Amino acid sequence: METKRNYGGLDVFKMIAAYLVVAIHTSPLESFHADADFFLTRVLARLAVPFFFMVTGQFVLSGRVWGKDRDLAPVRRYLKKIILLYLAAVVLYLPLGVYAGHYENLTPGALARLICFDGTFYHLWYFPALILGILIVCLLGRFCGIYASLAVSALLYVIGLLGDSYWGLIADVPGISDAYELGFRLFSYTRNGLFLAPLFLVMGAWLREGGREKPIADGVGFLVSFALMTVEGLTLHYFDLQRHDSMYVLLPVCLFFLYRLLLSWDKKAVGVCRAVSTWIYLLHPAVIAAVHLFHKLVFSRLHVALTDNSLVRYLEVCVISTAAALAVAAVLSGLRRVSFERDRAWIELDMGALEQNVRAIQGLLPEGCRLMPAVKAEGYGHGAVLISKELNRLGVKAFCVASVSEGVQLRKAGIKGEILILGYTHPRQFGLLRRYRLIQTVVDESYAEELHRYGRPVRAHIAVDTGMHRIGIPCDRTDEIARLFQWKNVKIEGMFTHLCVSDGAQSRQREFTKAQGAAFFQLVKRLEERGLDCGKKHLVASGGILNYPEFAADYARVGIILYGVRSASGDLDCAGIALKPVLSLKARVASVREIAPGEGAGYGLAFVAKRPTRLATITIGYADGLSRLLSGGKGQVLIRGRRAPIAGRVCMDQTIVDVTEIPEVRQGDVAVLIGRSGNETLTALDMAEAAGTITNDILTGLGPRLTRTVKPRTRRATGGKETKAQKEASPES
Ligand SMILES: *Cc1c(COP(=O)(O)O)cnc(C)c1O
Repeated sequence: METKRNYGGLDVFKMIAAYLVVAIHTSPLESFHADADFFLTRVLARLAVPFFFMVTGQFVLSGRVWGKDRDLAPVRRYLKKIILLYLAAVVLYLPLGVYAGHYENLTPGALARLICFDGTFYHLWYFPALILGILIVCLLGRFCGIYASLAVSALLYVIGLLGDSYWGLIADVPGISDAYELGFRLFSYTRNGLFLAPLFLVMGAWLREGGREKPIADGVGFLVSFALMTVEGLTLHYFDLQRHDSMYVLLPVCLFFLYRLLLSWDKKAVGVCRAVSTWIYLLHPAVIAAVHLFHKLVFSRLHVALTDNSLVRYLEVCVISTAAALAVAAVLSGLRRVSFERDRAWIELDMGALEQNVRAIQGLLPEGCRLMPAVKAEGYGHGAVLISKELNRLGVKAFCVASVSEGVQLRKAGIKGEILILGYTHPRQFGLLRRYRLIQTVVDESYAEELHRYGRPVRAHIAVDTGMHRIGIPCDRTDEIARLFQWKNVKIEGMFTHLCVSDGAQSRQREFTKAQGAAFFQLVKRLEERGLDCGKKHLVASGGILNYPEFAADYARVGIILYGVRSASGDLDCAGIALKPVLSLKARVASVREIAPGEGAGYGLAFVAKRPTRLATITIGYADGLSRLLSGGKGQVLIRGRRAPIAGRVCMDQTIVDVTEIPEVRQGDVAVLIGRSGNETLTALDMAEAAGTITNDILTGLGPRLTRTVKPRTRRATGGKETKAQKEASPES
């Protein structure tokens, strides 16, 4: 089973890297030993910033800058965010910069140099370096692959080295040193976005999937290369060759091993480290200044004998910076929590139920048959991306969808594995099939030719018609199907058919389904006798899984039962397995009022009160997918654990319900349309039957205006208490 990669190792090192940067700016060992301090701040701590660049390379650039999936939109969004953060930091440090005299006699040229390269305060060079580095890497990605980008950025790094730690080698070489001096008018150091950042950004993107396999080799590699880098740094320092001390020949080597080592650490993500390390980085210079000022003003006034110990000072700055960073991160996450979730009308997904259904359904299938869940139509209304991501996490590696746009949506969200498009795709969109690694269904013979004419190889599964007569080539036309294998650009990787009465219990239906299965497998046999490889074979959907597990071949295209519901109550029993509904549908009570007997309510005044009546209006309507066929008391909702019938006609955005029997209903209460409230439950099947349709119709009709949220998991087993969100979401329980 595929497991999700854990990046906790990177998170932990982010914190370490942040404290290393603080060390660079506070020299913790200064009071003890100059060489020890050099080692700590000019050798060890130099791992920090390149590491941050690599993380950005991995999470922002990889998979977007190079290759056929080049897609810079997320990179652009990231840049926008970083630029805003940089501007905020510039403003934040303006007073300190002025106080420190950084901006005296500022010419426009010097200002440009501060903003574009050096940063307007000493630690802020990181932001322009990051921005420029990303721009350069994007440019490289346009013209060359990742290895060539690696080579070019390594060359830039070497140029940078000569202006940094190895300056002594060229300082006296005329021509070369002049060229560098010219450069130094533009930027104070070569440790910048042009020479330093690109290499580490590309390395991060390149190493993304590396590591994990050989932690011991990587650990040894890191120790050896770091020892050598220490020798390198001390030697350069000893011979006084350094103009600056940020770049070493062995720095990329050390980081190569270190990064792989961290990737191989299978530790759960520690999300808080990400925000906190960034804020420590941003805030620590202000803390250094504040601590300095505090010591000067307060302690000296009080004539307290203060220890001017560099290590104590360092720890002081670390502790205060961490506290400030935690505070900022907490405030920001609080601000961000203002969302549209659970405000008006929403869906709650129970991922525990999804997992239970996956396991139960897998248990019905023979060994070797894998799930290929149908996540078409927004994952039956649940939210295709949310559901598919969770399925990926549960080890599911194949999906089917109805259209190419659905496939692209999944790929853009990072869904891994096979994605089969079950229907027709217009030839104009064939390019997308390749670009997003989608598999196309061959709907008939002429379509295969159409696919071939696209001119480049396209992956395909052949649809075979065994009696449904919707799409596919009739299964008795063996020659016609065999001919499809000759189209050079049509890469046939599978073959399937669809059963149309597999949910029926009547003997006629059972015979028909058995004939469909037999016809399919006979066709496969005839083709194989001709030496043709049909690839992955699949025919069962939900009905087939429950009633004909013997037909399960390589894949089971499970749809409705994966979501824990049956299409209709007449269907055959669920083979004794416990399915659990994944989806709940909820809305709010907008307003409560009373009307007198004889008064009407809603459009057409279709509801007429027969007694003193309490009406509640809820914030969901047919535009959200609450079928208008539920009007006039056919549909019900649950409020405070009791049932309330729909009064009159369902409106587009609101619905009136009769709550005469529930006097305690208040504005803001949660109304449950599908799901549980107290001891009462309304299922999607209840709603479907009230509306005279099947659950598939109800679920896929749930509209885009609903917010889709994942229900927080209750941790009863560990004694965890209910979260605030849960309480809020279900005051009725
Ligand atoms: C929708 C669909 C499925 C899934 O069907 P369920 O009955 O919901 O399991 C499987 N195969 C094909 C071809 C489909 O169109």
